Amino acid sequence: MDDPVIGIDLGTTNSAVGIVEAGFPILLANEEGERLVPSVVWFGPEGAVKVGRAALREPEANRTVRSAKRLMGQRFAERDQGVLRTLAAQDGGIALALPDRVVTPPEVGAEILKELKRIAEYRLEGPVRRAVITVPAYFNNAQRAATKLAGEIAGLEVLRLVAEPTAAALSYGMDKLDERSRVVVFDLGGGTFDVSLLELREGVFEVLATGGDTMLGGDDFDAALVAEVCARLEKNSCETGESERFRREAERVKCELSESEQSTFRVPFYDGTSSLEEGFSRAELEVLLEPQLTGMKRICGAVLVDAKVEPRDIEAVVLVGGSTRMPVVKGFAREVFGREPDCSQHPDEAIALGASIQAGILAGTWRKVLLLDVTPLSLGIETLGGLMNVLIPRNTTIPCKAGELFTNARDGQDRMRVRVLQGERELARDNWELGQFDLPFQPRVRGKARVGVQFSLDENGILEVLVRDVEGERDLVVEIESAAVDVSDAAVEQMVSESVDHAFEDMNARIFTEARLKAGELLPAVQEALREFGEDMEEGERDEIEAARGAVVEALEGNSASALKGAVEQLDEATEALAARVVEQALSGQLEDDKLNN
Ligand code: ADP
Ligand code: MG
Repeated sequence: MDDPVIGIDLGTTNSAVGIVEAGFPILLANEEGERLVPSVVWFGPEGAVKVGRAALREPEANRTVRSAKRLMGQRFAERDQGVLRTLAAQDGGIALALPDRVVTPPEVGAEILKELKRIAEYRLEGPVRRAVITVPAYFNNAQRAATKLAGEIAGLEVLRLVAEPTAAALSYGMDKLDERSRVVVFDLGGGTFDVSLLELREGVFEVLATGGDTMLGGDDFDAALVAEVCARLEKNSCETGESERFRREAERVKCELSESEQSTFRVPFYDGTSSLEEGFSRAELEVLLEPQLTGMKRICGAVLVDAKVEPRDIEAVVLVGGSTRMPVVKGFAREVFGREPDCSQHPDEAIALGASIQAGILAGTWRKVLLLDVTPLSLGIETLGGLMNVLIPRNTTIPCKAGELFTNARDGQDRMRVRVLQGERELARDNWELGQFDLPFQPRVRGKARVGVQFSLDENGILEVLVRDVEGERDLVVEIESAAVDVSDAAVEQMVSESVDHAFEDMNARIFTEARLKAGELLPAVQEALREFGEDMEEGERDEIEAARGAVVEALEGNSASALKGAVEQLDEATEALAARVVEQALSGQLEDDKLNN
């Protein structure tokens, strides 16, 4: 990729980076295979810096900066910002005092962005210069400017700042909803809670209302759990040296309770002598979180009132943020918005995926896929008589799959030629050939081979053709790349209009061919039957059959589809009694055989 654009979710707790590759948004993992980078930076002595999990392993709290996003673009105020002492920066913003240096929030953000840039360059094996970064919908100008500055310090040109709920909605494909559709994005992360109501207007999401609490998230759930454990230990607060161990254990227990009903809070030798082991059920945790949930309910209600929207006017509710993995949160969202929330995306990856899609749109690597929402032209194979047999009709939404069973046309046939076609015409030769190949099989009597052909068309317009000899259990898979992609709009239009222009003659050609094939089966069969039963047939019947046969032979010489079809139908009718006799005899022969076999 020449000059890639990456999409970045610069989160309060976790950050991630992604890109659109081959039309798909994907997140890029670091050397350890991790796609989430904890938004934590450790500033060591002599300018050493560690980011993410490596920073978490460093013990010194006074050198470790967390949740810097909260301070982005904030004015300095004489209030406690946590473990680190805060100062007024030159521009009146906040600075953080470390033992041997002072850093600003954009500088902290820049370290995280540098790490994400590094991961992207490692995965893409080339330089990365441009990025899209997400910010909360409520971020003001100063906060946005600070985020952009962080990007610049990291050596990135920030092409766009995208609202997080918009990115989330993009990742869920909500941009394909109808005009004016409304979507709620419910984002509960580690330290923040954001609800946004979006409306789709001319393909762009507009934020109708947002609400939230910048001091409410999964961290608070962990704290509530720690407080409960300390209360059970009959301590007012846990010893400071131990608090980090307690917090980590609380988070582990909380996450486990999202999957199972029961967990155990364990801190071995928490005070040097005794170990802690406390059972917790999911229900107990949910009781602890009631105050937070009540606050969230009020906020959601306020957003709906602000936007003057009722729950029934909402098209979709999507959940993002790691904390929405909790069943109680899902249930809560369902209750408040009166509909089943969509949680089909990874909650902690959705925003980065949406940022990647936005990056792909800007880089021009995404558009293709949007155009390819439906197949522009029908896809099929050539069958007997040179006809087009459509497996996937035009305008089918992709991805899609379709299949059909075919048989051999000739006795002793030992292979099936599969010609893959694209187009709207009835005759194979008028359509475009995308490829052809042979499936060999054991020679079989005509009509005895059973060959399944399956087409699967993926999001990128790549067509996979699976051909299977059902009896021989032999498979052949052929990938036809970009079957539908390379078709220009003009070519599609021409194909469609030609198919309309030629609709009449095409239809005639198809009817003629089908009748010709039927005649090809019927004539030899009739001949055979007459030879066998002709003797003891009534003369009238025989004459009638002979006449009908002659008419078919004559019609085959001509080019009138209706004449041939009519003649074939007549012959079919005239030979009804004869055919019955053939079947009867075949059956009694079979009975004889069966008797012999038994
Ligand atoms: P942010 O947007 O603040 O950067 P994330 O969306 O990454 O944060 O969410 C992180 C939070 O999600 C943390 O508090 C973490 O404990 C919580 N979390 C992650 N997985 C689960 C889970 N399975 N159950 C409950 N909480 C979870
Ligand atoms: Mg987030």
